[in-house]
Amino acid sequence: MRSAMWICGAPGKRRSYLSPGTEEGSESQSGLTTRLPKAGETILGHKFFVGFGGKGANQCVQSARLGAKTSLICKVGNDSFGNDYVDNLKKNGISTAFVGQTADAATGTASIIVNSEGQNVIVIVPGANLLLNFEDLKRASDVICKAKVVVCQLEITPAISLEALKMARASGVKTLFNPAPALADLDPQFYTYSDIFCCNETEAEILTGIPVGNLEDAEKVGRMLLERGCKLVIVTLGAEGCMMISGEEPIPKHVPAGKVRAVDTTGAGDSFVGALAFYLAYYPKLSMEEMIRKSNCVASVSVQAPGTQSSYPYRKDLPQDLF
Ligand code: ATP
Repeated sequence: MRSAMWICGAPGKRRSYLSPGTEEGSESQSGLTTRLPKAGETILGHKFFVGFGGKGANQCVQSARLGAKTSLICKVGNDSFGNDYVDNLKKNGISTAFVGQTADAATGTASIIVNSEGQNVIVIVPGANLLLNFEDLKRASDVICKAKVVVCQLEITPAISLEALKMARASGVKTLFNPAPALADLDPQFYTYSDIFCCNETEAEILTGIPVGNLEDAEKVGRMLLERGCKLVIVTLGAEGCMMISGEEPIPKHVPAGKVRAVDTTGAGDSFVGALAFYLAYYPKLSMEEMIRKSNCVASVSVQAPGTQSSYPYRKDLPQDLF
């Protein structure tokens, strides 16, 4: 009874180096450094951890934890990070049949240093992500074309994401596109090949030039993106939930999120997109507003725990009226 869903996303391993006092619940410790190192300087940090990331993988993990049958198409290095990465996907019940491992590049990484004020410096090395190619998509065409939903982002070569959306569209598969990280010069075909175009406030501003500070701004963005060819636009608004507008009924709707005590909102957007993909695939008869309301609920649970994938809820831990 579980239907196939395919998510195209880029992998990435996130290495975080934390200086004192940065985690939720910890205290600043005097005498230890509270600043980012200068060029050439070596400083002591107090915590180091490695987590899994990549927007596609995060979204896929959230969908799988809600009960979706998922498959990730991506490329990692033939290295220990890549091996761990594949293991993590398997542990989450995600099909890795189309997770390629290459000796030609290292697994994508994001190295992050955070100081006690929560400021960070980040170095992203896309590595193997950029080696996912048209041949890889062709090999996976069966799973793409038989999926209920295909989800793409921009952490791989944009032309590959676009091709995946085109393949899905040609087979009548619903497409959900999350233009992250945003590109100011996004190929206009992305708008027309996305059934649902879902961005956050920052991405909305990069794409349209409209800074999004409130619902009205989000509505302007939504209208502009509809004009560019989107069928349905969702702008996520953090604690405020989302704005949605569709070409069929171009009256913007605010779908609020519940009030919660947020401890770490990192990855909330991916939790939202993963949940939305789940509802699109398994509850296609729900109205879009209801799907967004439920996805807001899932994402708002994720912000109440620290970390990214570690904060994503499982179906068994959620109110059963979400299913
Ligand atoms: P990130 O980049 O940190 O992954 P984002 O900027 O892409 O997040 P947001 O718009 O911040 O995404 O949040 C996505 C969704 O998560 C919101 O639409 C909402 O459903 C939920 N959410 C985020 N922050 C909160 C919060 N403080 N309280 C309740 N829900 C939240």
